[in-house]
Amino acid sequence: MVDCLFCKIISGEVPATIVREGPGTVSFRDINPQAPTHVLVVPRAHHDDVGALLQADPGLLTELVREAQAVADEEGVAERGWRLVFNTGREGGQTVFHVHAHVLGGRGLGWPPG
Ligand code: 5GP
Ligand code: ZN
Repeated sequence: MVDCLFCKIISGEVPATIVREGPGTVSFRDINPQAPTHVLVVPRAHHDDVGALLQADPGLLTELVREAQAVADEEGVAERGWRLVFNTGREGGQTVFHVHAHVLGGRGLGWPPG
């Protein structure tokens, strides 16, 4: 999609630190990490948010979750625990409207914090 930041990262037009590539997804480090591990898992195909992805291609959503688990394994956070987040819509905190899962780990993420 024209003018989509994550489409540009996937095409290589905008650089990113890629940690994993699957047939349908690319995983790269968040530019403003909120935890020692903060990786975004992004489908190569453009869908606006997780609901749109679920409707259009549930198999790709499954692949995205599988890749998120693989990232957690590779980053060494799977055993201690980690968080998978889909910010959805403006009030949900979504700022890039190309669906992405945040893989967060490497510090205590309990809610409330502390
Ligand atoms: P959202 O707020 O939409 O759930 O998440 C968007 C994420 O993309 C944010 O955590 C933000 O730090 C990250 N981000 C924004 N611009 C860039 C960029 O140019 N490169 C990378 N790697 N991450 C970005
Ligand atoms: Zn896009």
